[in-house]
Amino acid sequence: MMKDGHAEGENVRVLLISGGVDSLYLYYKYQNVFDKLIFVDYNQPVRENEKKVLDDLQIDYETLILHGLPQEDNGYVWGRNIEIILQLRKLFINKRLVIYLGVNAEDMTRSNTPLFYRKVEDVMNESYTGGIRIVMPLENMNKHDIGIELKKMLPKKITPWSCDVPGEKQCGNCVSCKQGKASEVFNIW
Ligand SMILES: [Zn+2]
Repeated sequence: MMKDGHAEGENVRVLLISGGVDSLYLYYKYQNVFDKLIFVDYNQPVRENEKKVLDDLQIDYETLILHGLPQEDNGYVWGRNIEIILQLRKLFINKRLVIYLGVNAEDMTRSNTPLFYRKVEDVMNESYTGGIRIVMPLENMNKHDIGIELKKMLPKKITPWSCDVPGEKQCGNCVSCKQGKASEVFNIW
């Protein structure tokens, strides 16, 4: 599925892109930096909604399929982030891999913090060749400010997808929608 023509030892800069506010902001702000844009399909119910945003924006991405992860009834997926990093590490074996994550200052769950990713880097670098760096350029920005900046850069009148529930429109009631309302991101579009 995924091919790369990079020579051994070369940097490969990967942006994980989802169709949400944070990763779209990284994409438009640092567009020329990335060698690969990767959408992760971990069987999330809204994956088609997320991909539609990327398709509508004509963003050229590849899909990493990561099904079968253990999941709670509320949709929480155990170990998703470390699984993603591990899969990318194996896909780009021998390459100096730099992974860009659109994690903002309000997103810091336990397996999504700078400290967590420093530990993951250490484990990966002790387990695999090539070298890995995980970068979170938005770790000090809040969602609202990211939304305002993204709106200025989006080429079309398209609303990023931030909802956990699939459908024609974003539901307004799920955890992600409530976070979006709290940070007044939805008012931006
Ligand atoms: Zn929702």
